[in-house]
Amino acid sequence: MVSFYPGPSRVHDEIPKWVKEAHASGILSMNHRSDEFMTLAGNVVRLMRQKLAIPKEYSIFFASSATECWEIIAQSLIKEKSVHLFNGAFGEKWFDYTHRIRPQAQSVKFDPEIVPDSLQLAFDQVELVAVTQNETSNGTQVPASVISKIQTLNPHALIAVDATSSMAGIQLAWKTADIWFASVQKCFGLPAGLSVIICSPRALQRAKGLSENQHYNSLGFIALMMEKHQTPCTPNVLGIYLLMRVLQKMKPVSETHGETLRRYEAWENFLTKCRAYEFLITNRRIRSHTVLTLRTSWPLASLKLAARKKGFLLGEGYGDLKTSTFRIANFPALRASEIKSLMKFLKSYQEER
Ligand SMILES: *Cc1c(COP(=O)(O)O)cnc(C)c1O
Repeated sequence: MVSFYPGPSRVHDEIPKWVKEAHASGILSMNHRSDEFMTLAGNVVRLMRQKLAIPKEYSIFFASSATECWEIIAQSLIKEKSVHLFNGAFGEKWFDYTHRIRPQAQSVKFDPEIVPDSLQLAFDQVELVAVTQNETSNGTQVPASVISKIQTLNPHALIAVDATSSMAGIQLAWKTADIWFASVQKCFGLPAGLSVIICSPRALQRAKGLSENQHYNSLGFIALMMEKHQTPCTPNVLGIYLLMRVLQKMKPVSETHGETLRRYEAWENFLTKCRAYEFLITNRRIRSHTVLTLRTSWPLASLKLAARKKGFLLGEGYGDLKTSTFRIANFPALRASEIKSLMKFLKSYQEER
């Protein structure tokens, strides 16, 4: 079964080999205070920087999920007030989680069909602006130019970006924000249970200034431990090892970005020729390049079942869109031949009806 679910999604074919290798070399029982672990963590940080073109002044940390990153940011980088811009379920969830921890958090919900640069983007007296770069539920993305504009208009605030379903699939303009995070079960093509947080010096300074230290995952504590390539708790060592292996194999992100775009365009081309499927979002300028959210006039359950019988797992709709849409991941670990086969299936399914 090939999983086109936009996370957890298809993992790299080498995973079983790498897990065996990890077992044989003792990594599965590796102590997280050992030199071997520190070398491993150091390698991952170096490879992340190299393959994803992360500026050298930005720090890289591990956490266990994107959800945990939402909480780390709320605890350690916001004293009172943040503002959350979103047009879909993941951005809204981030706002909800933050609101529980910092009740003054504000939300700006925008229409998924618009480019959010038409909104009022200057926010007085907020400490942090939260943006979901790639909204995995409705298949939209916030263009890099908009994130850059938010930064320019809010020099006093930190800019935090959820890039869970785009990091390692497209090139991100790191310097236009202070905090970026993603979990690895989307574009990295890895099993779930690990996430990465990338922070600017300004973000770390803010954390220091607030000196919030009430949690095992307070950002200041994580940063302190990472100075010696360690983590506060026993981390997902296997996940970190697999991340190292996948990074070693990974092309530079500029190349992956081009490939993602070409594949997205092939999908767009294919879908405009199909009468049975259409993009939920009509505005091409803000469609996600890594997650396709589609509509069909046919019963979704039969389509998904027929796909399953042919060996394709289609993504369910998410949140409010659960019953009206299905989703297709456009993540790097998917093979060109698998995409071709799925297109062939979708075409024949349409023709048989
Ligand atoms: C998948 C996803 C999350 C949640 O990730 P977890 O690792 O399950 O916490 C958060 N934000 C976005 C945009 C996502 O796509």
